[in-house]
Amino acid sequence: MSSLTPRLEIQNITRVFGGRTVVDDVSLKVMPGQVTCLLGPSGCGKSTTLRVIAGVDMQDSGNIFIDGNLVCDTVFRVPPERRSVGLMFQDFALFPHLSVAENVAFGLSGSRAEKRRRVEQLLERVDLLGHIDDYPHQLSGGEQQRVALVRALAPRPKIMLMDEPFSGLDNRLRDEIRDDTLSVLKEEGAAVLLVTHEPDEAMRMADEIALMRHGKIVQQGAPYNIYNAPVDRAAAAFFSDIN
Ligand code: ADP
Ligand code: MG
Repeated sequence: MSSLTPRLEIQNITRVFGGRTVVDDVSLKVMPGQVTCLLGPSGCGKSTTLRVIAGVDMQDSGNIFIDGNLVCDTVFRVPPERRSVGLMFQDFALFPHLSVAENVAFGLSGSRAEKRRRVEQLLERVDLLGHIDDYPHQLSGGEQQRVALVRALAPRPKIMLMDEPFSGLDNRLRDEIRDDTLSVLKEEGAAVLLVTHEPDEAMRMADEIALMRHGKIVQQGAPYNIYNAPVDRAAAAFFSDIN
């Protein structure tokens, strides 16, 4: 596998609901170790795109490749659990009846000792080793978020799909958790597709931004370039409330 092979590549993905094209011919690549943000206003089709990639919904046309292997076209479909994707959504709750350790170990295979090592390594990385035997209700919102992050990362997914994962947190916490999350993702070398409607979040976290509007990607590039040279008035206006 060449290091230039994208971790994720989607080609010409289209999804139609009741005659309305919600995702319209979207193509995108996420390279190893990179955070790509799918950024756009509410309702533009971001979550639908992510659900199709995860395999919980199916496109009407287009292809999806993970590590260069076809996982889905219109006739062939690898099920979600075999795509090696990590999922993190705003409302992706922890299992309330399982401890922190059991939550993080949930998707892991291997011996008991191997699993324990991986769980401890990840919890240490997010400063939660002291909470390993706690239950979710004993943790703060920010702590639960960090457990959800390492739970998704534990099986070393080829690509992490994150859908507005910080929008349930209050402002003060959000900045802190974003920074923590970014450093953990970078340390793990994860390839990430992060969906957000907040330009400042994309500017802060992305190596690459894909700007989406009405189901289409209207501009793609490094955050600095998109911010400085928005493709049109609407893109400029969208970025204008960043401070
Ligand atoms: P975003 O995540 O950017 O806010 P979504 O992908 O959730 O946007 O939704 C895009 C559009 O598709 C919205 O108008 C939404 O109402 C519509 N939509 C999403 N899922 C469905 C569905 N299962 N059936 C019908 N319409 C849907
Ligand atoms: Mg959404």
